[in-house]
Amino acid sequence: MATLEIHDLHVSVEGEGGPTEILRGVDLTVKQGETHAIMGPNGSGKSTLAYSLAGHPKYTVTGGTVTLDGEDVLEMSVDERARAGVFLAMQYPVEVPGVSVSNFLRTSATAIRGEAPKLRTWIKEVKETMAGLEMDPSFAERNVNEGFSGGEKKRHEILQLELLKPKIAILDETDSGLDIDALRVVSEGVNRVRGGGDTGTLLITHYTRILRYINPDHVHVFAKGRIVESGGAELADKLEAEGYEQYVKGGA
Ligand code: ADP
Ligand code: MG
Ligand code: MG
Repeated sequence: MATLEIHDLHVSVEGEGGPTEILRGVDLTVKQGETHAIMGPNGSGKSTLAYSLAGHPKYTVTGGTVTLDGEDVLEMSVDERARAGVFLAMQYPVEVPGVSVSNFLRTSATAIRGEAPKLRTWIKEVKETMAGLEMDPSFAERNVNEGFSGGEKKRHEILQLELLKPKIAILDETDSGLDIDALRVVSEGVNRVRGGGDTGTLLITHYTRILRYINPDHVHVFAKGRIVESGGAELADKLEAEGYEQYVKGGA
């Protein structure tokens, strides 16, 4: 069973006055089949954690370890991490001009599976997955994220997730900016992947709203670059009632 282990992770970004430490000792273990919600105020470093796990070059790891089944993830390139089974749905997905959704998905699947998916089954698979996400088939011919609405971007991220079936899925604010119908559709996609039992999910969110659709096994409160409290789903109810204030007041 795949296990992602993050131990005492420290990450800095380069700012105008030199490097600033954003992650200050993150400890977290995510196993295949588990769903962990990471909840925290804006600016606490949630996206920094997501990007650092995916290998974004802007973020410098200054301490700690990240392993997937004992393999050193921090030593891997972005591509190697993806092939090893780490998937990131970004908070702000980027445009890929001139590349259609259909080509993008097939290229990604080929890279990750190590061989091109058989065309006929692949087309069927994509069609069915898109239908499950209530996406119009014509969407496949559009260029990746070009002019996509917020909801379309997030559905496209979940489409990738369902087709690529990663070992570890990091979903960074997949719920933000979604109306109630899109939130339900996107959540159903996440739950289908979860039901497969092969994916461990790190659901990063600012709001408790999505947790009405996706019931997490574990909830972690993230503040000032680290996990400050962990619990079960009931911790989300506490956050809903009390907010993040108790975690952020006081000095650094
Ligand atoms: P969250 O996702 O929890 O809102 P972020 O990880 O986006 O938090 O940001 C955490 C802190 O790190 C913020 O103070 C933000 O300004 C800073 N930060 C994040 N990424 C960068 C970057 N690429 N360059 C400079 N500062 C950054
Ligand atoms: Mg933010
Ligand atoms: Mg963020």
